[in-house]
Amino acid sequence: MTRTVYVNGEYLPEDQAMISIFDRGFLFADGVYEVTSVLDGKLIDFAGHAKRLQRSLDELEMANPVTEEELLEIHRELVRANNVTEGLIYLQVTRGAADRDFAYPDDATPTIVLFTQAKAGLADNPMAKTGMKVISIADERWGRRDIKTVQLLYPSMGKMAAKAAGAHDAWMVEDGVVTEGTSNNAYIVKGNTIITRHLGHEILHGITRAAVLRMAREAQMKVEERPFTMEEAKAADEAFVTSASTFVMPVVEIDGSPVGSGTPGKVAARLREIYLDEMRKAAV
Ligand code: PMP
Repeated sequence: MTRTVYVNGEYLPEDQAMISIFDRGFLFADGVYEVTSVLDGKLIDFAGHAKRLQRSLDELEMANPVTEEELLEIHRELVRANNVTEGLIYLQVTRGAADRDFAYPDDATPTIVLFTQAKAGLADNPMAKTGMKVISIADERWGRRDIKTVQLLYPSMGKMAAKAAGAHDAWMVEDGVVTEGTSNNAYIVKGNTIITRHLGHEILHGITRAAVLRMAREAQMKVEERPFTMEEAKAADEAFVTSASTFVMPVVEIDGSPVGSGTPGKVAARLREIYLDEMRKAAV
C-alpha cells in the first residue's frame, strides 16, 4: 500500500517524498518529533502534542513552519487520505538543509514531514491483558531528555537489549533511580499510591503521563512524583508504563522477578480504561 505522506507543504505518495541529504535532521539529529495516536479516526490529545512540539522547538531555537491550526488540518487530511481508523501519526520538524557546520545556520528553512502508521488493535492491544516484561539498563542518553529530539539510538539499543533478554522493553537507571522506559514513562504502585519520577531534564514530559496523572488525581488516587529505585520497583504491588501509542500498559516482570502477583494490576487496568474512555470522548 502506498501511503500519502506530507512533506513541506505537499501531500505526496510516500515513494515520491524527498528531503535533502544536507538536512540537519539527517546529519546532526537536529530535529524534533511527535507521535499522536488515532482512535475511531480521531486524534488523541492533539493539543498536548502540539504544545510539546512548540516547547521542543523553542528549547532548540528552531522555527515552527506551521501554525497549530495548520498542523491539525495536516493531521486530519492524512487520516482521511490514508483511511486510518486506528493507528499513529508521526510528525518530524528539523532545522532544515544547510552546508554541514555545527553552528545553527541563519537561513535554513525548517523541514516538516508527517506520515501515518495504521495499527489495528491499538486500543485492544492483547498485551494489556498479559502485561509486559522489562529489564533494567543504565541510562546513557544525553542530558536534555525533556526535548523530544530524533536522536533515538540509545533507546533503540535498549529495546534490542530487552529483546535479547526475552523482554519487551527496558527501564533506564541513573544515579540509582529509574528515569523512564526507552519510549514511555515508568510507574510503580505501592498500596494505593502511584509513584512516578518527577519532571525535569532527565525525562520526557509525557503527554500521556500528564493526562493519566490528572485522571488519577480526579479519581481520588494518591500520586507521588518522585524517583524510585529498581529494588522498590521489584517490591511494588504493580508497575506500568504510559505512552501515546500504548496508553497505559501493565508491567508484570522486572529483571526476571514478578511484580506483585505477576499479572496486570487493578490500578493500571482502571487507569487504562479511564484514559481510553475520556480521551476517545475528547478526540478531535
Ligand atoms: N519517554 C520517552 C523516552 C518517550 O520516547 C516517550 C514516547 N515518545 C514517552 C516517555 C511517552 O511520552 P508520550 O506519552 O507523550 O507519548
